[in-house]
Amino acid sequence: MVNIYYDQDISLQAITDKKVAVVGYGSQGHAHAQNLKENGCDVRIGLRPGKSWSKAENDGFRVTTPEEATQEADVIMILLPDESQPNVYTQQIKPNLAPGKAIAFAHGFNIHFSQIVPPEDVDVFLVAPKGPGHLVRRVFADGGGVPSLFAVYQDASGNARDIALAYSKGIGAGRAAIMETSFQEETETDLFGEQAVLCGGTTSLIKAGFETLTEAGYQPEVAYFECLHELKLIVDLLYEEGIEGMRYSISDTAQWGDFTAGPRIITEDTKQEMKKILEEIQSGQFAKGWVLENQTNRPMFNALNQKENDHQIEEVGRKLREKMPFVKQKNKGMVGNA
Ligand code: NDP
Ligand code: MG
Ligand code: MG
Repeated sequence: MVNIYYDQDISLQAITDKKVAVVGYGSQGHAHAQNLKENGCDVRIGLRPGKSWSKAENDGFRVTTPEEATQEADVIMILLPDESQPNVYTQQIKPNLAPGKAIAFAHGFNIHFSQIVPPEDVDVFLVAPKGPGHLVRRVFADGGGVPSLFAVYQDASGNARDIALAYSKGIGAGRAAIMETSFQEETETDLFGEQAVLCGGTTSLIKAGFETLTEAGYQPEVAYFECLHELKLIVDLLYEEGIEGMRYSISDTAQWGDFTAGPRIITEDTKQEMKKILEEIQSGQFAKGWVLENQTNRPMFNALNQKENDHQIEEVGRKLREKMPFVKQKNKGMVGNA
């Protein structure tokens, strides 16, 4: 069974008595920095000149370069896009590390797949919220927390675990659940979740449903609401009450359709494919492809992104959401990585 910790199990002191640098001020960065600061931590932000710099300053932080932030801080949380981390680490962070410092991540990719190889005399841990950064901030501001995983890869100081736990509490995760894992488990399950279920599985399911309805002559607007918009309402019920609770709210007709049609959509073949996807993650094949894609300036990523954004469901959706400002307002700035 997993070890789960809550606020009352953890003292913040292991993080409040340290200087923290948050390098990057995007989806995760702004949330970690603001939540930690409100929990009494001494936080500075490390960035390149650009739009995040002024955003962090406007939010009341002192902003400096990744080099200076690393020199100043005891705990350096690296919240850059995964694909930019190795370069920034090698050129700006690593030369400024010293024994006893800690480097930290919100996802284990670069350590697990050896894109970053840290020196032996620093602590290395991760605190990985299981939710988009904008919700890590919004849920915290509303008094809640997003559950997080933590893991220690290297404990040079003998305190890495306490620091990781205190950091997790500092960003609000102890209000939900702080679960202990390894870099391997976090990396592989996170990649699998976003590919097979949360992002890849869900968007493919939505598009296949939309295409089936529109190809049969139904109106695209009706198909959009049926296959995309309403999904949020169903997912809210799943989040609050689990599958049983969701099924309690839908009609018995819908529930009978759920039982009988669902297994025809996600079949044994789908599960076999999921297993292949997991194996490609475990073997490093997926990581290798993504690293190469970035080294060649993302030819496939860019082409696929364009094609996806031109899909009819997106064109219809943009028009419909313009008429629903309440939807847009609520989700403002929520775009980020899984
Ligand atoms: P974002 O893309 O949202 O933010 C990146 C930040 O890094 C921006 O502030 C950007 O600033 C800055 N940046 C980019 N390149 C450089 C550079 N070369 N030098 C200095 N600053 C730079 O990243 P995420 O928050 O999505 O991801 C951060 C980490 O968190 C990743 O490891 C990811 O896997 C993990 N994670 C993310 C989740 C999410 O919800 N997004 C969920 C869980 C984990 P600028 O404005 O200058 O571009
Ligand atoms: Mg994730
Ligand atoms: Mg992820």
